[in-house]
Amino acid sequence: MSETAHRPLTGRLVVATHNAGKLREMRELLAPWGIEAVSAGELGLGEPEETGTTFVENAHIKAAAAAAATGLPAFSDDSGLVVDALDGAPGIHSARWAGPDKDFPRAMADIHARLVERGAVAPAQRRAHFVSALCIAWPDGHREDFLARVHGILVWPPRGTLGFGYDPMFLPDGHERTFGEMPAEEKHGLPPRGKGLSHRARAFLMLAEACLERR
Ligand code: IMP
Repeated sequence: MSETAHRPLTGRLVVATHNAGKLREMRELLAPWGIEAVSAGELGLGEPEETGTTFVENAHIKAAAAAAATGLPAFSDDSGLVVDALDGAPGIHSARWAGPDKDFPRAMADIHARLVERGAVAPAQRRAHFVSALCIAWPDGHREDFLARVHGILVWPPRGTLGFGYDPMFLPDGHERTFGEMPAEEKHGLPPRGKGLSHRARAFLMLAEACLERR
């Protein structure tokens, strides 16, 4: 038994997102545990401003707002790409770097240009990691946080058309295909079928271990 008392999660849950893609992925992750997930978007909840300075703070802001508005436990994630040679940018601003039109080819070109400006052309100078902070917040203020990373390097030009966001330029350590070249099952799949490779899959495994019971 662990020293920390985690609170089990059962029944209904709000997924604190308005993003249909994220909702689908979270529902898939939660399904084997018999958790019924409704989304903040479906319930007509507003989107809180992400004013935190860390992934964990922003995940908490989103989950706490949804829990307070619905009286149900709420689940959120905040994620992004952290580039060593850019002092951690884009980090918590990863979505914003793509602009309102979500132009990720441009955001990737921007990162590459900044790396070249700093002379970061060799693979060892182009280290980066994805971060996922998952939070479950209950209406009584209890909360559980899980943070995980996946490390790799940034390649240029981008490779592959699968995945989303910065996937085509991210080559995870120990692999020859970028996230953009990997099918979803290889990037996100959980054991026993998958390897739990991505940051989000790794954080979810920690959450499942602490708070979920397989049905
Ligand atoms: P959030 O919705 O504020 O958490 O923004 C997360 C942003 O980080 C996304 O819009 C992507 O730009 C980036 N990101 C997070 N996870 C991934 C991933 O698995 N692949 C590619 N980009 C990601």
